[in-house]
Order: sequence, then structure tokens, then C-alpha cells
Amino acid sequence: MFQKNISLKPYNTFGIEVKADRFISISSLAQLMDIISQEKDIFLLSGGSNILLTKNITKPVIHINLKGIEIIEDPKEKNSVFIKVQSGENWHEFVLWCIANDFGGIENLSLIPGNVGTSPMQNIGAYGVEIKDVFHELEAIEIATNQIKKFNKNSCNFGYRESIFKNSEKNKYIIITVTFKLTKNTHKLNTSYGAIQNELHAKNVKNPTINDVSNAVIAIRNSKLPDPKKIGNCGSFFKNPILSSKQYAILKQEYPEIPSYYISDELIKVPAGWLVEQCGFKGKRFGDAGVHKNQALVLVNYNNATGMEIFELAQKILKSVRQKFNIDLEIEVNIF
Ligand SMILES: Cc1cc2nc3c(=O)[nH]c(=O)nc-3n(C[C@H](O)[C@H](O)[C@H](O)COP(=O)(O)OP(=O)(O)OC[C@H]3O[C@@H](n4cnc5c(N)ncnc54)[C@H](O)[C@@H]3O)c2cc1C
Repeated sequence: MFQKNISLKPYNTFGIEVKADRFISISSLAQLMDIISQEKDIFLLSGGSNILLTKNITKPVIHINLKGIEIIEDPKEKNSVFIKVQSGENWHEFVLWCIANDFGGIENLSLIPGNVGTSPMQNIGAYGVEIKDVFHELEAIEIATNQIKKFNKNSCNFGYRESIFKNSEKNKYIIITVTFKLTKNTHKLNTSYGAIQNELHAKNVKNPTINDVSNAVIAIRNSKLPDPKKIGNCGSFFKNPILSSKQYAILKQEYPEIPSYYISDELIKVPAGWLVEQCGFKGKRFGDAGVHKNQALVLVNYNNATGMEIFELAQKILKSVRQKFNIDLEIEVNIF
């Protein structure tokens, strides 16, 4: 049933070479239930685009490959449609499927790597939209009991790159389906980001469709982010820190050019990439581990870096940012 001694290099976008003692790719719920009735201490793997592997994995690696997209509710008189998606579906392919069917709401999340089932884990977000904006519910197997449970938006407790599945319920559930509530016919576009506006303007698009917004996001992402197929990475390695307005005011005095995003009168978000850049790491390379030349938030594997080398570079950056700005950055990627 399990394959033995399998390289996980093709299964993580950092392209880190580690071995799994035992590995299985699961494509049916019955098969998953069967495994879970025997194995409780498992390592879950989906698209591998938000993990840094620092050692061989001795737990059984369960690769989630459940497929299927189903429209479960499409009320004629309403502008909403409910779509239930199996967790192993590729996220971007699902976005494209929605656009082809004229279902709106996730076009700003185009080209985010990974699978649908993992999208709620850290409430994926980009260009002003987060999964929580279109999330209806998910189903997950509770590993301890083999029971399938449902979680609605409230019970997931979504935050900025957060949900209960990264916190109190970490390692307790396997997400098997996610149901989204999307719009049909009349869409509420979010083009508030300057980069999207610029892209639409450059293409002379006056009345954008969801397809136009998706294409704009794809163009922006392709120009800014390294393609993991060419250079190993996991996207943003650190979260953007949220500071109190008092802490921000002190920093602003010393660094008047510090960029910021207003959250509330009390809270200000600062781009972690800017902080990392100010510490001199942008484009720096330490052996095969490095910081991307265009985007200081992205750590990269130039070829044969080990997970430990990437992790040690992250520690260096954390220390440097703490010393210079008195800010403790938080790592977004899941480290194993
Ligand atoms: C180039 C690039 C750009 C990115 N841009 C963005 C972005 O704009 N916004 C954003 O939010 N993220 C971004 N990411 C991060 C990443 O794409 C997302 O976090 C994605 O949702 C991870 O999905 P995955 O399937 O690859 O998860 P994996 O990396 O396989 O797993 C992530 C975590 O979930 C656990 N897990 C896996 N499957 C399941 C399951 N079925 N049930 C429960 N737990 C499970 C794993 O053990 C691990 O802890 C980017 C990554 C890359 C490489």
C-alpha cells in the first residue's frame, strides 16, 4: 500500500530533497478513511507550496489527491451559487474553472499555488481578497475519531493567514471538501489595488470582467514572483507584521519612508519585505539558499539548498529585523 523511501523533492515547491519513509497518494475517501483507522500520527501533504522540509519524514506521508467539483446549489432567483470542491483539486485550475463558468469572487486569487483543501488553512489571500470572503463551509475528518465534521466560517476563526487549523486544531483534522459561495451574473469586482488598476489601464480595459481581473493578477504575479518550477520557493516566507499605532509612530520618526497599510486607528500593517530589504538581505545568497532579488519576502532555493540552510537564513533575517526595528517577524510557512 505505502511506497517506501520516496523523495519528496517533486512534492514541495521549495524543491528540498528529503525522503519519506512511507508515502501514499490518496484519491478516494474510502481509502483515506481506511488509512486513518490504522494510522493516527501522520504527515499531510497537498500541493507542498507552504512547507519547508528540514529533515526526512518518518511519519507516514499522506498525499491528498481527492478530485471533483460539484455545483450543489444554484438558486435561479439569486445571484449566488454554492460549489463544493474536493480538497485535492489544484487551486488555480479551480479559479480558471470558475471564470470559464462566469462564477465570481476568487479571480483576485488567481495563480496562487497549492490545492483547494489547503486554501482555508491560512485563509489564503492576495490583492484585497481572502478565502474567508467566499467561504461557505468545509468538511474534515477528525483524525482521533474518524468522524467527518463540518466547519462554517465562524468556526474556522479566520484571520490574516490564520485559521483554527493552524492553531488550536493543528494536526487534528484532514480537510476533505471546501464549499464556496460565489456570484453569478452580477459580480462585485475588487480592483482597489493600484497594481490591478495600472494593469487594466495599460490594457485599455474600461469595464473589466472577472476574466480581465484574473488576467491582470496573473500578469502582475508573473512579473513579481519567482516561478517555483524554475527556482524553489514558497512565496512569502514571513507575515507582514501588524504594529500598534504607537510602535509605528516611533518607527516612522526614525524611518520616515517606512511604507504602511492602515488597518484601524490602533493598528498599522508594515510590509515585511521592506524590513528585510532594509536589513540588506534582498538578493543576498548564502550557498544555495537566498533571498529573491526582486522580492525580499521570498526565500529561495537556487538548486541544492537543504531545508536547514533555508531555515538558518530565516533565523538570520529574524535576528537582524529584531535588532534593527525591534519587530519580531512571524514565519508564514509551515516548518517540519
Ligand atoms: C510562488 C508562491 C506564491 C504564493 N502566493 C501566495 C499568496 O499570494 N497568498 C497566500 O495566501 N499564499 C500564497 N502562497 C502560499 C501557498 O500557495 C498557500 O498557502 C497554499 O494554500 C498552500 O497549499 P498547499 O496545497 O500547497 O499546502 P501544503 O504546503 O501541501 O500544506 C500546507 C499545510 O497544510 C497541511 N495540510 C496539507 N493538506 C491538508 C489537508 N487536506 N487537511 C489538513 N491539513 C493539510 C500540511 O501538513 C501543511 O502543514 C504562495 C506560494 C508560492 C510558492
